[in-house]
Amino acid sequence: MSDYRLGIDVGGTKVEIAALDSTGEILLRHRVANPGNYDDLLVTLRDLVEEGRGRTARTATVGVGIPGAIDSRTMRVKNANATWLNGQTFGKDLEQVLGCPVKVENDANCFALSEAVDGAAAGRKIVFGVILGSGVGGGFVINGEPVTGLHHIAGEWGHIPLPWVREDEFPMPKCFCGNEGCLERFLCGPALAASWKGEGQRCADGIEEAAAAGDVAAIKALDTYVDRLGRACALVINMVDPDAIVLGGGVSNLKTIYARVPEVMKKYAITPECRTELLKNQHGDSSGVRGAAWLWGK
Ligand SMILES: [Zn+2]
Repeated sequence: MSDYRLGIDVGGTKVEIAALDSTGEILLRHRVANPGNYDDLLVTLRDLVEEGRGRTARTATVGVGIPGAIDSRTMRVKNANATWLNGQTFGKDLEQVLGCPVKVENDANCFALSEAVDGAAAGRKIVFGVILGSGVGGGFVINGEPVTGLHHIAGEWGHIPLPWVREDEFPMPKCFCGNEGCLERFLCGPALAASWKGEGQRCADGIEEAAAAGDVAAIKALDTYVDRLGRACALVINMVDPDAIVLGGGVSNLKTIYARVPEVMKKYAITPECRTELLKNQHGDSSGVRGAAWLWGK
């Protein structure tokens, strides 16, 4: 197999490629706008792969992360927020365009894989990767392999209900998925912003500084967020007992989380001594392309 890996991250607004060598060194990185329709996306990907191979090797492998999942029965994309991707046989179509095998995986799974292979959780056996951004996603990696599951939804943590709910947390907010009380509605960045500055606010930048300066609403919003994130992590610990939980996305930059959430995890995890590490991602914005590249193994 080739020593070079091309990893592509298809995001809602941009498409990014990186070429990695076998040590994980990034040799090339290029970001372009997502053209916003399917046929043009395939052309964009063909051009990016052509460039990547020209700079590395013709045999460089191709892995792609997408903001959705591939249905294992129909091989069609589902659950993508770039809705024009849904229903497309993306992997097959891209293989046809490129004339080579392609591996496609959910972007949260790529994030988890990147951090498990040579990121913050390198060397850990069971890793749960979580993206706390405009939405909430998650993925499991066990022994260096992403866990997908029967319906390709393993790790869809954002759509599990908030656990150990207190009476004052009712009524539960509605979620776009049709259910109520999903974790995404409490743990995404806009939820933190709204609980600090009121409904409709989407940006929580500066919340730690505000709390440190005595802003009562910021302190309360952070306290609530820490408690809920801790409960949500404890749920994962009681189910799968990971060695590490790695956080990504905008909210993962809050220092408060790493200082305070482990105490809450300890309170709710059903073990007298909870040693699960709660880690900040190491690769940041590069995790998407790196994880996609490592779909072919490091
Ligand atoms: Zn939901």
